[in-house]
This record gives sequence, C-alpha cells and structure tokens, in this order.
Amino acid sequence: MIDLRSDTVTRPTPPMLAAMSAAEVGDDVWGDDPTVLRLQATLAERTGKEAGLFFPSGTQSNLAALMAHCARGDEYIVGQLAHTYKYEGGGAAVLGSIQPQPLENAADGSIPLEKIAAAIKPIDDHFARSRLLTLENTIGGKVLPAQYVTEATQLARERGLATHLDGARVFNAAVAAGKPVATLAEPFDSVSICFSKGLGAPVGSVLVGSRALIDVAHRWRKVLGGGMRQAGVLAAACLYALDHNVERLADDHANAAHLAAGLQTIEQVKMQSVATNMVFAQFPQQHCAPLEAWLKERGILTQMLYASRFVTHMDVSRGDIDTFIAAVKGYFAAR
Ligand SMILES: *Cc1c(COP(=O)(O)O)cnc(C)c1O
Repeated sequence: MIDLRSDTVTRPTPPMLAAMSAAEVGDDVWGDDPTVLRLQATLAERTGKEAGLFFPSGTQSNLAALMAHCARGDEYIVGQLAHTYKYEGGGAAVLGSIQPQPLENAADGSIPLEKIAAAIKPIDDHFARSRLLTLENTIGGKVLPAQYVTEATQLARERGLATHLDGARVFNAAVAAGKPVATLAEPFDSVSICFSKGLGAPVGSVLVGSRALIDVAHRWRKVLGGGMRQAGVLAAACLYALDHNVERLADDHANAAHLAAGLQTIEQVKMQSVATNMVFAQFPQQHCAPLEAWLKERGILTQMLYASRFVTHMDVSRGDIDTFIAAVKGYFAAR
C-alpha cells in the first residue's frame, strides 16, 4: 500500500529493528537503562538544553511539560489549531487542571503578537494565572518564521510567561530552514520532539529543557503512567533514527513539492498549501468518498475530506507519488 494519510505510518526498517534488538537495557524507572539515558543526553546536547526525558508518546510529553510549567488554576496560551489544544483530548484541562486560552492562528500558523499580549491576564483573583505560551513548529507542515518566534517568546518572557514548543516535527523545520535544531529550540524553555513521525521510529518522544523542569516532568510522567521499564529497546530505534533519518527528511519535502505540482495539473483540485512534508488540497465534496474508495482499490490510502492532507514520509517514493497522481487523473478521466 502507498499510505499518504500520515507520516506516523512508517514501519521500522530491518537495520532499525537490528539496533533495537541489540540495545543494552535496564529498568528505566530505576534510572538505569543505559540506552534511554544515552538518548536523553544526546537530545539534550543536540537541542542545546540541560536535560531530556523519554516518553511513550508526544501527547504525554506535551502534557507532562504543561503540568511541569503550570499548576492547578494556571493558564496556557495556545493556538486554536495546535495539537496540544485540539488533538490531545483536552488533557491539559482534564488531567492537569490547566485552563487553555486558545487564540486564532494566522494563516502561517503563528499566533499574532497583539492577540497574545491582550490575552495575558493581570494578577487578580478573578483570573487564571497566565503562565505559559505554547507554539508548534512545524504547524500544518509550515515552518514558523524565525523572527516571529523570537518576538513571541520575548513578549512571553517580558510578561513573566514560560515558553514551550510542541516540536513534534521540529527536525522537519530544521532541515527545511537549513538550521541546526538547537537554533530552533533556543528561544524555548522546553521542546517536545516526536520520533514516531517522519523520523520513522515505532514509538517515542523526548522532552528537553532545564534540569529543574525535567525533574518536575519526570514526576508527572510517572503519575501519567509513562514510566517504562526496559525502554532501551524503544530508545534504540530513536537513536538509530537520529543517526540515519534526519537529513533524509529533505527527500520527503521534495516529494511533497512533487505531489503538489502533480495535483496542480488536475483542474478539479484546488491546491491550498505545500510546506515541508505536507500538502493540503480541496476536492469537490461529491468526489471525496468515491475518490478515496477508487484510490484504495488501487493500493493507495488517503483520507479524502473537503480539505485533504497528504503526507510524505520514508515509505513513500517519488514513483509512488507518480502512481498516486496518475490514479487521481484516472478517476477524473473516468467520470
Ligand atoms: C503527532 C503529534 C503530537 C503527538 O502525538 P502522539 O501521537 O501522541 O505521539 C504532538 N504534536 C503534534 C504537532 C503532532 O503532530
């Protein structure tokens, strides 16, 4: 199957599985799994932070970070489209007693500075305490403008807020921007990074930040059920991904551009955006379900909605994209 639904669908490759089976392990709840410790130290170093912490998922990593920054009755400022707000089951409110203050994202994924400034509440018993600004990079595949990130995090700091980056795909952003990941992480107090997306590992995220913040997050990880035992088996896949699958993200970005160029030649398709490894396009509503079924019969998995998203990753080749474009053309030609 050619699976364009998400970059989470990648399967571990034979050499990644070999690295996992060769991993030296211990009990990470006791803090003595050497492979987990190595992954955490490697990420801390790569991102220019003091410490790292391994999590089973990005959702849990983001939540533990929010809970480390914010206490009960505190508030975090976040985009309406942000994963931590929209796609994590409301965890910050449900499990963290943290009030979200969602704000409309601009088209480039940023949250306008004046909206952030206006949402920060004065210290007054009527209000939740504004404690944290959370941004996401990439967001909808888009790399946040560097100048914007500098200004937004500076504004937050001036007003006494901490800053967290949901950097699930921050390596995509770094490769696309041609900058070290440490440069993109630098303005933030904490960053959460996924290995189960374009980097191709089956499981895992790492949170990085100051030693003090990671110590608090470590306690919340245990509370949230994220303490794992011989987790070095999983951390080995992430270390393998760091060594082998970062630079190749550029191929996914080139393939996404190729996919977008192909869609642009089809008159029924309205292109919306292409950035890093994601393409968004609109299809006439009445064609979405039949086209999705047509593609599936031809071995191509998509999620055809009015605004459809196509994601490139290491298990999608340039030839696969040509197959996909030809199949979409074939569908419309047969109408
Ligand atoms: C995937 C993702 C996460 C975390 O998702 P998990 O499936 O819990 O690992 C967080 N933020 C963004 C932007 C994501 O794409």
